[in-house]
Amino acid sequence: MLNLVLFGPPGAGKGTQSSLLMQKYNLIHLSTGDILRSEIAAGTKLGLEAKTLMDRGDLVPDEVVIGMISSKLDNNLTANGFIFDGFPRTTAQATALDILLKEKGTSISSMLSLKVADDELIRRLLERGKNSGRADDKNEGIIANRINEYNNKTAPLKEFYSSQNKLYEIEGLGSVEDIAQKLNSVIDNL
Ligand code: ADP
Repeated sequence: MLNLVLFGPPGAGKGTQSSLLMQKYNLIHLSTGDILRSEIAAGTKLGLEAKTLMDRGDLVPDEVVIGMISSKLDNNLTANGFIFDGFPRTTAQATALDILLKEKGTSISSMLSLKVADDELIRRLLERGKNSGRADDKNEGIIANRINEYNNKTAPLKEFYSSQNKLYEIEGLGSVEDIAQKLNSVIDNL
């Protein structure tokens, strides 16, 4: 299996690049943000609880997202592989993911980390907020909180994967096609 963690701060382009990678390598795209937003749209209890946190730019509890990912893995046992987008976001999530994959006889192939400067992230997210309908893209204070959560809780995961020799850092500035090519060349050389 090819199991990729597509990593980077909010607004780095993970969603855009995930759709390209999923088509090219025939992988299942698992975005915890998308799954949470579909729970909100369906009006489930989980969605209602997550919405308050997401609208503030806070992370939702580890056990919630780990449970979601676990059931998605169980539902796709014959897949060619997965792209994890927006997950893991904490060390507890990364440890849980390693265990879940091990139970299925597989593991993370690599972490592809997109690097984008904060001022560019803020610009992109505010731009997206004009049409995305996402409350967390509309307000600079909430965006700053998301970047802060990323720096405090999520960025340390680079060390987690680097200690397993799985970290690849990619410049996330440039055209969508340029960045896709850089990602492809890393994956093709794995
Ligand atoms: P972005 O990467 O642009 O912030 P996402 O769709 O990945 O967008 O995430 C939106 C929100 O969903 C996050 O701010 C957080 O509240 C919640 N969320 C998504 N994935 C996770 C996760 N793995 N752990 C905790 N919270 C998450």
